[in-house]
Amino acid sequence: MRLAWGPEEEAFRAELDAFLDAHAPRQGLGLDFAASEEEGIPQWAREWQATLFDHGWMVPGYPPELGGRNATPVQTLVYQEEMAARGLPRSVHFPGWAIVAPSLLEFGTDEQKELAPAALRGDMVWCIGMSEPNAGSDLASLKTRAVLDGDHFLVSGQKVWTSYAMSAQKCFCYVRTNPDVPKHKGITVLIIDMDTPGIDIRPLRQITGTTHFAEVFFDDVAVPRQNVIGAVDDGWRVTMGSLAHERGGLWLQTVAGVDHVLTDLKALAKRTGADGNQAVRRRLADAHAQVSALKALGYKGFSSFAQGSSAPEHSYLKMATSELQKSLFELGMELEGPAGIVIDPDHHQAAGRWAFSFFTSFAGTIAGGTSEIQRNIIAERVLGLPRGK
Ligand SMILES: Cc1cc2nc3c(=O)[nH]c(=O)nc-3n(C[C@H](O)[C@H](O)[C@H](O)COP(=O)(O)OP(=O)(O)OC[C@H]3O[C@@H](n4cnc5c(N)ncnc54)[C@H](O)[C@@H]3O)c2cc1C
Repeated sequence: MRLAWGPEEEAFRAELDAFLDAHAPRQGLGLDFAASEEEGIPQWAREWQATLFDHGWMVPGYPPELGGRNATPVQTLVYQEEMAARGLPRSVHFPGWAIVAPSLLEFGTDEQKELAPAALRGDMVWCIGMSEPNAGSDLASLKTRAVLDGDHFLVSGQKVWTSYAMSAQKCFCYVRTNPDVPKHKGITVLIIDMDTPGIDIRPLRQITGTTHFAEVFFDDVAVPRQNVIGAVDDGWRVTMGSLAHERGGLWLQTVAGVDHVLTDLKALAKRTGADGNQAVRRRLADAHAQVSALKALGYKGFSSFAQGSSAPEHSYLKMATSELQKSLFELGMELEGPAGIVIDPDHHQAAGRWAFSFFTSFAGTIAGGTSEIQRNIIAERVLGLPRGK
């Protein structure tokens, strides 16, 4: 069976291709990894996100004033396919465009909604303050307190793993406003300006040497009452907000990412002569079969999504792609042998790429819900298995 898009979708793709040929940056998701996270948000990425927005290609499903072109879900999928095939990120800081903007548009006041275009264009950098030392998978256990004092809340507590906290102007912060009700019911989302007195940002250095996140401490930080998103104590509802029209194709980028890694791995096996080794050949063939199966599953899910149903297949894809990616980077390290950890490009062609990517790949199995939590969700909500004790 050969699957193909119709002429209208191909015309849409051709328009996108012409734009990308003219404007896309040289940098993609490829080997440009070493400096990418250390220096915050690179200039080329800022310009690229603004260019996408200005041409209506940032979030195609949105109207032009929000950086889109009112694209249909199928057109959005074509867009995601093309961007993934070229290894092009839309942005290197996802919280603003992917989480904050849709939440502001869905739950914000008119004044708060006005912050959405800058978040989508990347002119304003946001961080998300959810996780705390004792509240990660179990987010509802968060303890950072916000106490109303006249026109302001006073916020005290600690967040951790806050991506982009060092570059962000604003934080989309989950705080406890009522400790006396069941834990899901006493949470509020506040917009906090990161330059407010009482905020202490301490970057966390990772095993890769980069500093992607920070711990953020709040000590009686005054936040105007009008910075509440939605209603006080109704923050749990806001966690559920997301880019509905994008959801059907979000898997594409991760599956394409694994596909790119597999292509690089095959080239590495050739270069090192490991492509003659039966065990290596079997692992590569197995990975190829897995990537093909994941793609097929993604498209199957999309077809339910486009017809207005849920796509349970997509719950599986995040976990499966992140775990597969980790194992492929591990194979890359094995194939390179001891030289693979040398990061000096004068001494080693790949400059530590496989080791760096292997360490980084653990993040994919944790961020946005760990693999164990994904398995729980699949077991309970997709397969309908009884909840474990
Ligand atoms: C790259 C990256 C970026 C991130 N960015 C942000 C950000 O910008 N803002 C933010 O707020 N947070 C961010 N996080 C934090 C992320 O949301 C948490 O790491 C994640 O929710 C897991 O929480 P935790 O680290 O506290 O681990 P825990 O929840 O303490 O889990 C520890 C271990 O126990 C397992 N476990 C926990 N509960 C269960 C269960 N019920 N059943 C089975 N196993 C379980 C987990 O799978 C894990 O292996 C980021 C994380 C990463 C990796």
